[in-house]
Amino acid sequence: MDDCLFCKIINGEIPCYKIYEDEHTLAFLDISNDGIGGHTLVLPKTHTQNITTVSDGDLNYVMATVQKISKHYIDDCGFDGVNILNNCNECAGQTIKHLHFHIVPRANGDKIGAWDLKSLHNLTLEHFREKLKLQN
Ligand code: 5GP
Ligand code: ZN
Repeated sequence: MDDCLFCKIINGEIPCYKIYEDEHTLAFLDISNDGIGGHTLVLPKTHTQNITTVSDGDLNYVMATVQKISKHYIDDCGFDGVNILNNCNECAGQTIKHLHFHIVPRANGDKIGAWDLKSLHNLTLEHFREKLKLQN
């Protein structure tokens, strides 16, 4: 897509620090260079806005790459674990409208607050189960 920053990275118009590439996916370092280092973005090469719009095929490809890189970081690169994060839509913090997963490398005792969720309601789990349950 013409005005998409990540499409421009995929087609080489904008440089990136590439970690991994295959036919369907690309992974590169997040420009923030935050956390303990190695913050990585994984995306499908085909433009799609988010987790609700991606094709089954690209979702499988991108998650396989997320797994491959997570395994590599833990098994080969000395990290103790990773957080895998996705922001879907602006209200959830999505700033670039091309689906991507963040891999945030973690080390024992690093004290990063990658999941700092406080309760903003006083409703029960039963209430939410009734509201949210989905038949298969
Ligand atoms: P979001 O907030 O949409 O989930 O994540 C977008 C991410 O893209 C942010 O973490 C931001 O630091 C990163 N980002 C924004 N512009 C660039 C860029 O030009 N190059 C790279 N490598 N990352 C970028
Ligand atoms: Zn795009």
